Formats: sequence, C-alpha cells, structure tokens
Amino acid sequence: MKAAVFETQGKPLVIKDVKAPIQTNDGIVLKVLATGLCHGDVHIIMGDWQGDLDIKTPIILGHEIVGEVVTDGKKVKKGDMVLVYNAFGCNSCKYCKLGYYQYCEKVKVLGVHENGGFAEYVKVPDENNLIKVEGNPFSLAPLADAGITAYNASEGIQNGDKVAVLGTGAVSMLAVQILKFFGAEITVVGRNPLKLSKMQEIGINEIIFSRGEYAKDLSEKSTTRKFDYILDFIGNELTLDDVSWMLSRMGELRIIGEFGGTLRIPEQLIVLRGLRVKGILYGKMEHLTNVIKLFQEGKIRTFPILYRLDEINSAINDLMSGRVIGRAVIVP
Ligand SMILES: [Zn+2]
Ligand SMILES: [Zn+2]
Repeated sequence: MKAAVFETQGKPLVIKDVKAPIQTNDGIVLKVLATGLCHGDVHIIMGDWQGDLDIKTPIILGHEIVGEVVTDGKKVKKGDMVLVYNAFGCNSCKYCKLGYYQYCEKVKVLGVHENGGFAEYVKVPDENNLIKVEGNPFSLAPLADAGITAYNASEGIQNGDKVAVLGTGAVSMLAVQILKFFGAEITVVGRNPLKLSKMQEIGINEIIFSRGEYAKDLSEKSTTRKFDYILDFIGNELTLDDVSWMLSRMGELRIIGEFGGTLRIPEQLIVLRGLRVKGILYGKMEHLTNVIKLFQEGKIRTFPILYRLDEINSAINDLMSGRVIGRAVIVP
C-alpha cells in the first residue's frame, strides 16, 4: 500500500510502498478514508517532543483517522464507516478505569507509537475504540482529535461565562463553536488576520488582533476586563506570560496548546483569587461522542482542506506557515 513514512527528523515524509496490515485476532483493519494533519505531527517530525515521547522510526504518522471496516469484526461489519478513538490503554490502571486512557502509562496512539493513518490502510488494536459515523469522511476526520480536544477544553463552561480564547488553529476553531453553543461570551485573540476573519464568520462576539503580546492586547483591547476562563490553544511564552492576571476570581486557565512555554504565576494571585490551572490533552470517549453529536446536528463545522496523500509535505508546509484556515485533511 501507499504510505507517507516518517524516516528522518526534520525531513519531508517519504511517500513509498509498504506492506499493508493484515487483520488478525488482535486488531481490525480499516481502509483509510481521511486523516487529519495535526500540529502534533509537525512537533513529532521536528523532534520537539524528544524526551517526552519516544518515537521509533520508520513510522507512519497520522492520528486523526476515519476509515472503512475491511472485514467483519465482533461489533463492526465490513463497510461500516468508523472514527477512531485514538488512545489505547492497559484498561486496568486508575486512569484507564476513569476513562482517561490518554494518561495511561502504557498508552498507545496510532500515528505516534504505532503506524497511523497517513496510508491506505491502518490496523486498529481494539474495535471498542471504533465509533460508527455517517456523513462526509473528510468533514468528520477533524473530530477525531481536534474535535474531542475542543470539547474537553470547553466542558463545564456555561451560559454567560466570559471566555478568552488564545489562538486560531483547528482546535480553537472547533472550541469557539462549542462554546458558542454553550452560550459563552467569547473573545478570540490571534495573530493571523485570515484565521481571525474566519472566527468573525463563525460569529464570535469579539476578535482581537495581536502582534504577539497576547495578555497586553487582551487587557487593552477587550471590552471584558476579566475572564472566567482563558483557553490557551498555543501554550508558548507569548501566550502564557502574564495572562493569569486576566482571570476573574475563581477563574480557570486551561492550557491546550503545546508550544513549550513556561507558566509563571505569582502565588498570591492564585491564592487570593482562588485561580485554577488545568492541562487539557485529548479527551474521553464521551467527549468524542458528544462532539460527533453536535456535528451531526449541524451545530459545528470542521473546515477541512483536502490534500492527497502524495501532497502531504505541502500540507505540512502550509500548516507550518499558517496557511491552513481550518484543518488539513489527508486523503489516500
Ligand atoms: Zn493531534
Ligand atoms: Zn492504563
């Protein structure tokens, strides 16, 4: 089968013929219909997560997968279109038992630890992780990672809550739609004018263009002086610096982006205002089924931009240079 293989750090993926996976008792093979390209893939290719993640090359990346079942399984049948809940845990530790498979010490993610979706076929270790879906696979694919993460990042936020959203990538674009559905008052801060106009199109209350000093621009240009929640979809020095001053009493900073910044908050600020800080990584199965439901009810859109498998390196370049307004989706 044709696949895009990650062989060398910092180099383009290699499009080549590799052996297709075969169905056995310990997994089910999908014909890949669409796989979203995530910033996580770029972090892996660039070696940003070395030390935290041990990536064994060569490997096929791609963790945001929609496919078609090739052979009958126990629960799914040949021809079913399915979306992959992509965190395979040990099923017995305390995190797995709570449904937080992403924090399992032994977690496996297709496209990170094992071959993923930038190929014609992929093997999924457990069919319990497959969710049957209907509709356009290209529009559905971004739900499998961006969507579930966006839902997890928005959970618990309520009607009337004031929420600042930092960043305008695919996860952020989904989160603002979910937050809007929840009735939150949203302020979006970003650097990319094209992505900000997309936010405007989605109908966000307030859009702030920043040249990089997110907290300063947020405090100066926003009509809201303090926020109940700040959702940081970037997570670098520019976004994390000083942003906690913008939280209301008992406000919560949720960090979703993984650009390697360091958070510094004066202890008194945390204590006297009762602030909370929470990291968001992927989500639980119920976050995924909830976000699929919102999508199928027409409450949210995913903005896929399609690339053929052999165009994947252009997709990566476009993503890195901020030209992807929505989600790049790779079609084998
Ligand atoms: Zn991802
Ligand atoms: Zn576990």
